[in-house]
Amino acid sequence: GAPKSTKYLDDLNPAQREAVEALEGPVLILAGAGTGKTKTLMARVAHLITTDSARENEILAVTFTNKAAKEMQDRLRRTPFSLNEPVRWMGTFHSISAKLLRRHAELVGLKSNFTILDTDDTIRLLKQLISAAGIDEKRWPARQLAGMIDSWKNRALTPSAVSGGEGSEFNGMGVKLYAQYQERLLTLNAVDFGDLLLHMVVIFQKHPDLLAQYQRWFKYILVDEYQDTNVAQYLWLRLLAGGHKNICCVGDDDQSIYGWRGAEVGNILRFEKDFPGAKVVRLEQNYRSTPHILAAASSVIAGNKDRLGKELWTSETEGEKVRLIGHWDGEEEARWVGEEIEALHGGTRARLRKYSLDDIAILVRASHQMRAFEDRFLSIGLPYRVIGGPRFYERMEIRDAMAYFRIVTQLEDDLAFERIINTPKRGVGDKALQDIQITARSNGVSLLEGAKIAVDEGLLKGKARSGVAQLIADIERWSSLNGPRIRYAVEEDDEPFEEDVLFEDERTSDDELSVFEDIGYFGERARPARPKLEEEDALVEDVAYDPAEIGHIELAEKILDESGYTAMWQNDKSPEAPGRLENLKELIKALEQFDNLAGFLEHVALIMDNDSGEDGEKVTIMTLHGAKGLEFPVVFLPGWEEGLFPSQRSMDENGTKGLEEERRLAYVGITRAEELCTISFAANRRVYGQWQSQLASRFIDELPVDHVDVETPSGLYGGQRSPATSYEASPSTSFEQRASKADVYNSPGWKRMQDRAQRAGSPRSPVTIDMKANASFTLGDRVFHKKFGYGEVMEIEGDKLAIEFDRAGTKKLVAGFVVPADQ
Ligand code: ATP
Ligand code: MG
Repeated sequence: GAPKSTKYLDDLNPAQREAVEALEGPVLILAGAGTGKTKTLMARVAHLITTDSARENEILAVTFTNKAAKEMQDRLRRTPFSLNEPVRWMGTFHSISAKLLRRHAELVGLKSNFTILDTDDTIRLLKQLISAAGIDEKRWPARQLAGMIDSWKNRALTPSAVSGGEGSEFNGMGVKLYAQYQERLLTLNAVDFGDLLLHMVVIFQKHPDLLAQYQRWFKYILVDEYQDTNVAQYLWLRLLAGGHKNICCVGDDDQSIYGWRGAEVGNILRFEKDFPGAKVVRLEQNYRSTPHILAAASSVIAGNKDRLGKELWTSETEGEKVRLIGHWDGEEEARWVGEEIEALHGGTRARLRKYSLDDIAILVRASHQMRAFEDRFLSIGLPYRVIGGPRFYERMEIRDAMAYFRIVTQLEDDLAFERIINTPKRGVGDKALQDIQITARSNGVSLLEGAKIAVDEGLLKGKARSGVAQLIADIERWSSLNGPRIRYAVEEDDEPFEEDVLFEDERTSDDELSVFEDIGYFGERARPARPKLEEEDALVEDVAYDPAEIGHIELAEKILDESGYTAMWQNDKSPEAPGRLENLKELIKALEQFDNLAGFLEHVALIMDNDSGEDGEKVTIMTLHGAKGLEFPVVFLPGWEEGLFPSQRSMDENGTKGLEEERRLAYVGITRAEELCTISFAANRRVYGQWQSQLASRFIDELPVDHVDVETPSGLYGGQRSPATSYEASPSTSFEQRASKADVYNSPGWKRMQDRAQRAGSPRSPVTIDMKANASFTLGDRVFHKKFGYGEVMEIEGDKLAIEFDRAGTKKLVAGFVVPADQ
């Protein structure tokens, strides 16, 4: 036929185009933020399809977060070329692995309807194992074990592969507990997040034939945000790309922000070794941000050592400087941001255009920062969406309800059964539960089966007995009403790589798919509960359709009503009860977007996101981590304060490495902004109910003077913006590099604010900022630290001090965190 249009190539610069056209063999695109890495990757997908190099479902495209996966789908839709069918294998490492593991679960001893546990379940399970091993959970907390296991899994280490030297914690039982945990997961027919990848790596390693089939199937592999892959993900990729080696990875070492989750920037360096002859493409032109924003980001990241080093430039010449503003406290910061957004939305800021709320994002370091913004926006009626953060699906009533759904879809789900056996109260105390557990274990059956035996054999008495008997009968009845099981596994004698067979269970119409896109769901798609009967559809007869079954929404409501769970909250007189009932309604609403309970549960396990997907423009509130790869015309970066950002914990745990990762996070944050970037900090902040006075972040010192406008705090004038503080009137302050904090603190406005607060007898401590905080110390100096109190400098090593605190013992700290004690 006629050659197809390659219009998408016209939008690319020569370097990008080169990267797109190099379809065969390994390609590494290494480039800074906003240079079009993701765009190039999507153009490659278009090019593969247009040149008939691969069909849509022969392309494997992975990225790191759900949000980024959704973004890829959106971008692909905007790319000027036409898809014949959806690109199905485009998603996160986890969602794609879940999909693969469902097909081959039996190879690691699982069933295809396995449950994906979340952290909460994991912790509960580990607690049981720790106490069964006779270890004091107070000394060796389950959370710590969970962290160890996660890091082993991130490095693709099964229990037997963990080297002898590791896991000496937990009285030397670390590795053993890991092994027990894995066994328990198998008996529960469950996996945790790390398992999704680990199991697939193990399967591929043990079954070369299967691997070879997938290597042939996925003709081209594309990876976005490659700098954040961990060892397990890297192995997974290397295995799948091992045949043809058509793998294209794009990344930016300066945006590696998941070191704490086991990501290894070193994977970028290894790429050229593992894929010899790889073509390396560098992109240098930034198309996203104004020159000021770019300069600010470059200046901050320059503080890191060991960078691969990249040039970034833009042809833009116009634009606003980055704005820096200090506030009295976190609430005022939120109020100011709210006002600012209203002004930007109303188009009343001089020199600036009118913005849609969708153009605006607030990116925070820690999710507890979100609440202040949520509260403020609720009270002024500013629509917003929270991505990540305080999670709907983590609320107690939601977890309870979902435990009911889980046990109904998977009768062996012991954790779910345990959660609901006495919720609402059925007279099942600790003793009764223990008896059931023992019965189940000694008979080698699930808890539900164990409970049945305990009832039949009269092990349970009185109220517990009748309560449990009723619950079992209910669960069995609900289960029989539940839609047909999803048929995931491919029959053995099917030819699995005939597309028609292998991909049958994922066929969806484009309409259905777009619904999923709208809610950001690209994980495993369960087979619809009521399959459309088509004669040529060979699989339909496998899916028995029982007329007694009812719709999943109806079923969910029935479960919550008949179990007495809804009534429990209706009868509850506590102030939270109405809210919980609201949330349960919200949950039922969420079910509408799915075909059955199993599909919904999988969605929740993979995406814990409370974006309701409702219409209308909204401000986005999310964490810096979640914002990677995204872009917004207007970005607010609040809370740039020592201890919050950079995070104290990250520095305490990982020293300079931790600090550098925080700095990369600052770089990620600034480079999300296209037109306007506002950085702010507060002098006082309430953290877990306690007022703390804060020091402005050291990253603020690293901003380049010439590209920053310092604004005066708004609270000064009783919330009214004086001409001097209005944006248009704010002059470009000339101050020395690395003194921008001082500029804020020494401004007359800041001093007046302090005086006023003191006169008003503010309960909060007035800020005393001493720029000497970054001064050098000598041995024996007396110092003061916010949390640890007074102490004496015992050792100095670069910017790190060992300090013997009067009460808190000896600690190693970065010098910026203590102030001389005499002031
Ligand atoms: P990040 O590192 O933040 O993930 P990135 O390198 O993936 O960034 P993209 O998100 O792909 O960058 O591109 C940034 C912006 O620049 C997008 O809005 C994109 O459409 C635009 N862009 C990229 N390349 C070009 C180009 N050649 N011409 C015009 N616009 C471009
Ligand atoms: Mg990108």
